Amino acid sequence: MKNILTTCPFCGVGCNFYLKAERGRILGISPSRNHPVSRGRLCVKGWNAFEFISHPDRLRNPLVKKKGKFKETSWQAAYELIVKNIKRTKAQYGPDAFGVISSARCTNEENYLIQKFARVCLGTNNVDHCARTCHAPSVAGLTRSFGSGAATNSIDELPGAKCILVIGSNAPEAHPIIGWRIITAKDKGAKIILADPRGTCVSNYSDVHLKLFPGTDICLLNGMMHVILKEGLEDKGFIDERTEGFDEFRKILEKYTPEYAERVTRVPKEIIIEAARVYATSKPASIIYSLGITQHITGTDNVSTLANLAMLTGNVGKRSSGVNPLRGQNNVQGACDMGALPNVLSGYQDVEDVWVRQKFEKAWGVKLPFKKGLTNSEMFQAPRRIKFFYIIGEDVVHSEPNSKHVAACLEKAEFVVMHDLFFCKTAEYADVILPASSFAEKDGTFTNADRRIQRVRKAIKPCFETKPDGQIIAELSGLLGCPLKYKNASDIMDEIARLSPIFGGVSYERLETAGFLQWPCPDKNHPGTKIMHQEKFSRGKGKFFAIEHLPAQELPDAEFPFILSTGRIIFHYNSGTQTRRTAILSREFPENFVQINTEDAQRLKIKNKSKVSVSTRRGALTIRAVVTDDIIPGVIWMPLHYADKLTNILTIDAFDPISKIGEYKVCAAKLEPVK
Ligand code: SF4
Repeated sequence: MKNILTTCPFCGVGCNFYLKAERGRILGISPSRNHPVSRGRLCVKGWNAFEFISHPDRLRNPLVKKKGKFKETSWQAAYELIVKNIKRTKAQYGPDAFGVISSARCTNEENYLIQKFARVCLGTNNVDHCARTCHAPSVAGLTRSFGSGAATNSIDELPGAKCILVIGSNAPEAHPIIGWRIITAKDKGAKIILADPRGTCVSNYSDVHLKLFPGTDICLLNGMMHVILKEGLEDKGFIDERTEGFDEFRKILEKYTPEYAERVTRVPKEIIIEAARVYATSKPASIIYSLGITQHITGTDNVSTLANLAMLTGNVGKRSSGVNPLRGQNNVQGACDMGALPNVLSGYQDVEDVWVRQKFEKAWGVKLPFKKGLTNSEMFQAPRRIKFFYIIGEDVVHSEPNSKHVAACLEKAEFVVMHDLFFCKTAEYADVILPASSFAEKDGTFTNADRRIQRVRKAIKPCFETKPDGQIIAELSGLLGCPLKYKNASDIMDEIARLSPIFGGVSYERLETAGFLQWPCPDKNHPGTKIMHQEKFSRGKGKFFAIEHLPAQELPDAEFPFILSTGRIIFHYNSGTQTRRTAILSREFPENFVQINTEDAQRLKIKNKSKVSVSTRRGALTIRAVVTDDIIPGVIWMPLHYADKLTNILTIDAFDPISKIGEYKVCAAKLEPVK
């Protein structure tokens, strides 16, 4: 039996483990004791991250739709059909008729190839991926506040914090190993502040729990900052030396008195004051947040408001402090870093910058499109413009908001190509489905939530007739006459390092020796960056933004009196294609459910585990109710993992105007018992 060290394919914590491989099969997993983040631990998903690899449902051969039915075909026939339709679409409509959706499950090297394929072979900047539905506001908000859109600090620093503000994150379920690091900090005496409408595992040990009404984060944080300024708890030296925009920001806070904040957020003013005092006086203080902050029409403003709070108290650029987005998927950080985004090339280099474009044109030997492209959400808002969707490892019908609308867009498109491990909701709308290989069947790197580039190692040959996504893209590019040729994944990383200053010192040779490198790592002698913005911010000075509270797009009314919010549970990962095919994970939570507060349930005569209808202006689902005091009255909550009872047929397609993320966390809903 071989033991191959690799990186977990699920969440953005990036735990390392050994795959136990024998005769072309993965038989088990054991954690890596030396890894600085996971330290010999894994969550239940990590321990079971192998069963899906040899699941009988794996796609085995390419599939082509004929007269509404899928038929197996050869790779050559599938490629010929795709190439023919790419050429036809380009000739008929031009390059911007393509929409390419890359994958946060693919390696860095594959994401680099996919965005290069879109720009070089198809000629469009219409390339994006699922960061749009999770942390696009982090990239936009932290970039404008600090100059870099990634986590400021490292996960292994968390136990050194004296205070941790956990906001919009159910870390013990969505990022379990980070949940464990928060408990370690608590054991060492840190104060834990939780801001969440729900009682989660963190509320069991938090010192302050701010049970805010969904969509009122800015008002809550502005209220806390009002108190900090009023009581003189700000870090004046840091503000004077390291930041700009403070005067305008200070003015806007005047009206956010604790009384005003209480009226909007429904959090008692005494608790807001206590949270402000604890955060400002327990240094270093770290902020960790996730989709409860980003998935709003104010997602970017929410993130910049957290940046304001950290700067106000001087909690940036120091160990165990900072503003730290917990990235949802294994390589969503890396997919962004590699330029699988419509506005930037690898290393966040602006596609509209002439100097950047000339550099890439010289290296790649082609003319590149010069206007930024469409985001995922814009591709689905402009269905007539996208004639050809190329979707890799993303079940967009499952994961985009208002999924019926997304399905209708795919139906209208003239051609849809998909790569995936399993047949999923989106596959129903594809013309060609190509069977892809899993993380265990290929080489590459993933980048976790704290900018840590880590190796993914091939443990077995690709199962059945599957191929790694990068190989598929390289083969297609050759057939299109613009070959993207590389010897191996290491060769691709060398090109990334040559063209992207923040990765200038990254190579497989160094990764083999060091185990990981945290970017920015600009040259071969640079050790990588554990803590960002230490001497100065990436943009020079940190910028305060004066941000007002804005209500959510769709608030409760007489017809739809509840707020529906959505999220994850520990046993499943995103659309559940992998975890719902893992017996031990599926056993615990086999079906979708809705959480409802005990008082609301009594009023509506809804019993625990009884069937209820949840409806919004976009659709309705019949599922089981979970009656609990862990959620505030007037709010209901559903997980997003169940393809057979798709939560996203209910969510609203209202978007943050800056980052274009959907407002998954707030929409108006109705709940009725089903007889
Ligand atoms: Fe994998 Fe995330 Fe669990 Fe670690 S915490 S084992 S990365 S799913």
